[in-house]
Amino acid sequence: MNPNDCYQVPVVVGAGISAATVSMLHPDVVVFDKGKFPGGRLSSKFINDISPFDFGATMFSDKMKISWLGQETNYSISEIWKSNSVRIPIKPIYDDTHFYPEQGMVHLVTSMLGDKKSIQSHTLKNIKLTEDKTWHLKFLISPDKHIKSIFAKNIILTLPIPQILEIFQNSENNQNLKRWCDFLENYNDYRKTLVSYFYWNNWKPNWKEILLDPLAPIPITTTLNRGENWEYQSWESIKYPNQIQTDSGLLVQFGAIFSETHFEDWMDRKKNPTPKSKEILVQGLKNFFGAPEPNLIWLHRWKYAQAQIPLLGKEGSLDLDSEKFEEWKKLCKETGITILGDWLFGAKIERIVGGISFLSHNNLLY
Ligand SMILES: Cc1cc2nc3c(=O)[nH]c(=O)nc-3n(C[C@H](O)[C@H](O)[C@H](O)COP(=O)(O)OP(=O)(O)OC[C@H]3O[C@@H](n4cnc5c(N)ncnc54)[C@H](O)[C@@H]3O)c2cc1C
Repeated sequence: MNPNDCYQVPVVVGAGISAATVSMLHPDVVVFDKGKFPGGRLSSKFINDISPFDFGATMFSDKMKISWLGQETNYSISEIWKSNSVRIPIKPIYDDTHFYPEQGMVHLVTSMLGDKKSIQSHTLKNIKLTEDKTWHLKFLISPDKHIKSIFAKNIILTLPIPQILEIFQNSENNQNLKRWCDFLENYNDYRKTLVSYFYWNNWKPNWKEILLDPLAPIPITTTLNRGENWEYQSWESIKYPNQIQTDSGLLVQFGAIFSETHFEDWMDRKKNPTPKSKEILVQGLKNFFGAPEPNLIWLHRWKYAQAQIPLLGKEGSLDLDSEKFEEWKKLCKETGITILGDWLFGAKIERIVGGISFLSHNNLLY
């Protein structure tokens, strides 16, 4: 190994909100990600240069709580951004405790990554511990498919557990990796989510009939019907109104059972709806909103949408006094690998940003 190839700072893999939070707090880290762009499950998309829509997370709450050493403390995410000089213009949505960034959800990630951009199109394939206790990481670079090797004393992985296990299983046998695999199996449970975006040229719903007020000072653009097939609906054209005058855009996230059932036959290879899913969608839009067939139907499948049994709990305060958390700390320290993400904190932006900030400030991160 050429000593120049060995990073003296932690190497972070994945460029979602977990990695962006680490990068905001420790600007010297290096971030690699397999996608063309950073963001992960915070994804905003522009089609034909019209206003954006969010097809991953859609909102965040500003407040969260942490229990540590028998004490519960409240945190504000916007205060955390402010104290790190990260400026993100946000607007309220849904109720008075939830917000979204004016420039799309992905702006949370890009703002926290800041000037120091992530290195994209690098897919981590396997890792190996060298004789001098340094991790050797092999990335496949797209689109030319050549392999890049780097070395680091500390690595921070922020991918969903199934993707981490795949990397560990492709890696040379190693006791540290085995310990992590055994530990992670307990939290390896994710729900799938199917998502659709619909766009209509020259058509808008009858807002009154669907009980929405597009002119309300807090844009009430979402309807949440937990447990139903069409679980979450958001008129993104109200959320991001700039370019849209006469048209409308709607994002729908489908429930867990619906998503599981239709996952495989949802779209064809070109990402167009299959005849069966198109029929379900067009009929649903007619029933719910009296809508004509949309001019555009865009689909996405989230295979690992949200972790279901996070180590620090799904709701309520993050409990850092638990034995499981002690085990996590020990594993990070003894293996030189820190593993973060929604499997640890819960699939909520405020829990991830607040949790990582707390760990960092209390020297519990790496
Ligand atoms: C449809 C949907 C709706 C949601 N709604 C909300 C919401 O409204 N509010 C909320 O708070 N949360 C919501 N969530 C949950 C929230 O989006 C996630 O908890 C959060 O984004 C997870 O961030 P992360 O950085 O831990 O992981 P990710 O965002 O998944 O980041 C992991 C990154 O790793 C990269 N990667 C994967 N494999 C490799 C590899 N081999 N090599 C290199 N890089 C790799 C990926 O490209 C990705 O960028 C939602 C999630 C989904 C899917």
